[in-house]
Amino acid sequence: QRVLVSGANGYVAAWVARTLLERGYTVRSTVRAAAKGTHLANMFSAYGDRHEVVVVSDITEKGAFDEAVRGVDAIEHVASPVTLQAGDPYGEQGPGSSAVPRSQALTRIPVLILELITPAVNGTLGILQSVLEHGTSVKRVVVTSSCAAVLHDDPTQPLEFDEGDWNEQSLEILEEGGPRLTGLVKYRASKTLAEKGASYLIVLPEKSRSQWQTILVAAWKLWEENKDRINWDLVVINPPYVFGPTIHEVTTPASLNASTLDWYNYVAHPTSSGETHEFLATKGGSWIDVRDLAEAHTLALEKEDASAKRIIVSAGVWKWQDYIDAANAISPPPKLSQCLPVGVPGAAAAAMHMVRFKTDRAKQVFGLEYRTIAETTRDTLADFEARG
Ligand code: NDP
Repeated sequence: QRVLVSGANGYVAAWVARTLLERGYTVRSTVRAAAKGTHLANMFSAYGDRHEVVVVSDITEKGAFDEAVRGVDAIEHVASPVTLQAGDPYGEQGPGSSAVPRSQALTRIPVLILELITPAVNGTLGILQSVLEHGTSVKRVVVTSSCAAVLHDDPTQPLEFDEGDWNEQSLEILEEGGPRLTGLVKYRASKTLAEKGASYLIVLPEKSRSQWQTILVAAWKLWEENKDRINWDLVVINPPYVFGPTIHEVTTPASLNASTLDWYNYVAHPTSSGETHEFLATKGGSWIDVRDLAEAHTLALEKEDASAKRIIVSAGVWKWQDYIDAANAISPPPKLSQCLPVGVPGAAAAAMHMVRFKTDRAKQVFGLEYRTIAETTRDTLADFEARG
């Protein structure tokens, strides 16, 4: 079985590729420049011709994956920008603000589209369209979405989400703009749009309109519209924060992917990036170990019952203090222990978790056992130590 893994030089996808190779699959890794494939090629050289790297230089271009999907049995579409730094499309004050004339504010929209939304949406739609047209041997496409496309924030009450929920809130904020449109919300909107699409069209400068029209048909809609005439099905995996050791190319801590960089800054940094004890005990979310997520991607290919399902995978909730406590409890202490923050041990135990996810479907379809905070913390610190 030959599997295409998009963005294989990324944190999650490198683990997906490795897990597939370990399980006997042949893997075709896509990267956007040849140089980004060197580390992968070296890391997987022992697999000989079971691993190949191909360059897909711009996943936003129509037909970008046409060649890459030929002859593969399945797709793991993981590539998508994970950055919280994209420009604010409307400026600080929002499109409705009298201080920012709408015509002026709108000129900033392409920044957001180009950095986050176009690659997320066009990458997902593009690979599905390439499969529709050229993927005659493809039986299943797995798309890495996110819990970002599921949850919404409500400061007034704790909420529990399942696969029936969609992050409409991020799309509303995207439409309205202004200070609520933070980097995190933009990322959430990009994942929601890529997976679901939107039922409205934001008013945009003429030249960008076609990109947004495309958003009206995202992954699920495109598959639903074609499912009666094709031989492949769609599975979407929705993970929360992903933590755990890295195997992709990381040269400096700053070049870590977004979630691991946060973990490094708050858990493996002596001052926890200057955050207060209260922050460490109260800020968190839900999480999954990257190796369990890679396992879920493999099971998504193997389990018939995964067909046409959206599946949330999550090991549970956390606060930064939970990882800090786990780090300080490692015995014997890791070499990095001199550098570990302490915070207020145990302070996260009483913390409120405003967002939780139901994982019954993952349990039923995958039967996955999740790694614990203690295991992930131990292995992640060992990885950082090994990298010096
Ligand atoms: P990384 O940043 O490590 O990897 C992202 C991958 O996508 C890289 O291969 C990157 O290529 C590629 N990519 C990003 N932007 C573009 C673009 N414009 N054109 C082409 N390729 C692009 O992220 P993760 O491994 O953390 O994330 C992988 C997937 O998992 C994403 O879909 C993300 O949304 C999802 N996810 C991640 C979570 C997390 O906590 N990490 C949580 C939930 C979901 P390049 O290296 O060339 O930039």
